[in-house]
Amino acid sequence: MASAVPKACVPVAATDPLYILYTSGTTGQPKGVVRDNGGHMVALKWSMKAVYDVDQGDVFWAASDVGWVVGHSYIVYAPLLKGCTTVFYEGKPVGTPDAGAFWRVISQYKVKTLFTAPTAFRAIKRDDPEGKFLKDYDLSCFKALFLAGERSDPDTLKWAENKLKVPVIDHWWQTETGWAIAANCLGIESMPVKYGSPTKPVPGWNLQVLDGNCQPVADGDIGTLAVKLPLPPGTLPTLWQNDDRFKSAYLEEFPGYYTTSDAGYIDEDGYVYVMARTDDIINVAGHRLSTGAMEEVLADHPDVAECAVLGVADKLKGQLPVGFLVLKAGATKDHDQIIKEVVASVRERIGPVAAFKTATVVDRLPKTRSGKILRGTIQKIADNETWNMPATIDDPAILGEMEDALVKIGYAKARV
Ligand code: AMP
Repeated sequence: MASAVPKACVPVAATDPLYILYTSGTTGQPKGVVRDNGGHMVALKWSMKAVYDVDQGDVFWAASDVGWVVGHSYIVYAPLLKGCTTVFYEGKPVGTPDAGAFWRVISQYKVKTLFTAPTAFRAIKRDDPEGKFLKDYDLSCFKALFLAGERSDPDTLKWAENKLKVPVIDHWWQTETGWAIAANCLGIESMPVKYGSPTKPVPGWNLQVLDGNCQPVADGDIGTLAVKLPLPPGTLPTLWQNDDRFKSAYLEEFPGYYTTSDAGYIDEDGYVYVMARTDDIINVAGHRLSTGAMEEVLADHPDVAECAVLGVADKLKGQLPVGFLVLKAGATKDHDQIIKEVVASVRERIGPVAAFKTATVVDRLPKTRSGKILRGTIQKIADNETWNMPATIDDPAILGEMEDALVKIGYAKARV
């Protein structure tokens, strides 16, 4: 390093590859998403003002891992393209040392906008439900919180709004897209928040909800969320050394569209609702049901910090939903009573067709390092199918805990 001499910049074509990033792979085989240079720069720089309402000179903090897409796009490229200060944070929202860590960093570095995953806020809410740590810091610099990476359950979102007193914006995107498909674009016009919705498609995205025959469905009906081609700048041009898989995974199911493989609907006001991966729509006795909608009901229970619902094979009904509950610190109510209450709430709010009767309390849920619950893997364990350890898993030991929990409620096979 001491003898190195500075080198000039190397010009590249707009279409040259910039990086390859593997998707988190909750279903097994990760895909190598390729990003290009030109469109990516345009989209990211534009998004800083339009989506996040951030200007040159502002301090932007994406509390993500730099190795994930949020880190690539919004720790590194976008803030620097916009001329912002970007915060690199090595730590967790809780435990390093406490649930006030985010507030400390915001006040110390005068962060205007924080972008993180809902799971981070669930962890903070779990450790400090009253938000006591907030009182120790001056957050007058702080203007907005953005959440993405998974569905923002309304309970967590409202908690963040109440405690922080700034707009809390759920927005939806994928490694493949590199930036938001749907958001409440604070820098264009902030729209009323509808809980459970990441608001509307961002300019550049012609988002449609399609049925199995590639036809748009009626407002409010669930289908596959697909983007009419052409895709906007910044999105993936291909998969690394695998054009065929790029076409088969994203372009072939609905000719003329990019499929997000997310299921959801658009309401009569044009608000988008992302309910689950299309794989997470379960079929209970012929009714197509969203496990995301059931999770929303469970998350509303005052003692529940986090939850997951997935469909397990059932001889009679095809599939049946099973719920996993992680309770808030300090929850003292009897577990059986909590389970009874959530079963009753699902029956009341979604209906008896959901056939939601089985739930269990666990200490924690298996996740990828980016915070996504490994529903596909839990389901395979429950159904006694062969499964591979996901490459992106955060803590492999938790899968053993899930297996034990499943055995207790009559699923999976006891390990020998
Ligand atoms: P990844 O490529 O690992 O970033 O995962 C992208 C997937 O995460 C999406 O296809 C959605 O299933 C999910 N996701 C991301 N953001 C949201 C959101 N705001 N609401 C619901 N699901 C989301």
